[in-house]
Amino acid sequence: MDFTLTIMGTASAMPISDRNPSAQALAVHGRLFLLDCGEGTQQQMRRAHLSFLKVEAVFITHIHGDHLFGLFGLLNTMAMYGRTADLYVYGPQALGSVLNFYRSFFGDGAGYEIRFVAVDCREPQLIHDSKWVRVTAFPLNHKIECYGYRFDEKLTERRQREHPEVRPKSYAYCSDTAPFPQLAEWVSGVDLLYHEATYPREMADKAAARWHSTAEQAAQCARDAGAGRLVVGHYSSRIKDFDALLRECRESFPESIAAQDGDVFTF
Ligand SMILES: [Zn+2]
Ligand SMILES: [Zn+2]
Repeated sequence: MDFTLTIMGTASAMPISDRNPSAQALAVHGRLFLLDCGEGTQQQMRRAHLSFLKVEAVFITHIHGDHLFGLFGLLNTMAMYGRTADLYVYGPQALGSVLNFYRSFFGDGAGYEIRFVAVDCREPQLIHDSKWVRVTAFPLNHKIECYGYRFDEKLTERRQREHPEVRPKSYAYCSDTAPFPQLAEWVSGVDLLYHEATYPREMADKAAARWHSTAEQAAQCARDAGAGRLVVGHYSSRIKDFDALLRECRESFPESIAAQDGDVFTF
């Protein structure tokens, strides 16, 4: 079965005319997992024909608005559509207060429960284990507490027996982060790695000062991890030349792709 990743936003910091802030949807066996939920997520989901009611869980990396400001609207729309299934929301402890604020002002009449699960780890930790997929959280190196998420497909015994050649698929999401040595190990061997590339290499000083990565650093992580493919995003609004950005990535890791809003990857 395929993993299908829809990139809904590739901007950093704030929306611009042709880029939304961070949000992605990973579809696994008909289940939807949202990764971050920046402004515009609902409209992007509609454009991609993704159902709000099929979202099983939301994984928030950190409490910066460009990763979170779309969540209230989405939670509200789920209620209006009559959602009854529990919604799991993962993220740093502080997200619990944000969700309590939402519930206290806007939660009346919702027919479903928001099940918040605080992520708090210094190294990779299994946080979500469902029939088809296992999700591990790991800390990133950002200005505030921030987590990446790795999805590993689970193969049923029957599938392993009947198709011994099939390898479980995997995906890792790393936004936002400055480079650090353990990361490549934690995302090692994934089929697809998303890594932020907020700045080009000539702005490495700015990247370091703001706890972000350059395109070159993203590619070095993918190379060290032995990833199958790299997708970069979370671009500074100053990035206009994507050919140059891609060249920078491909010097270290040829299988690099510079995502644009709305891109879909199946693997
Ligand atoms: Zn960000
Ligand atoms: Zn951030």
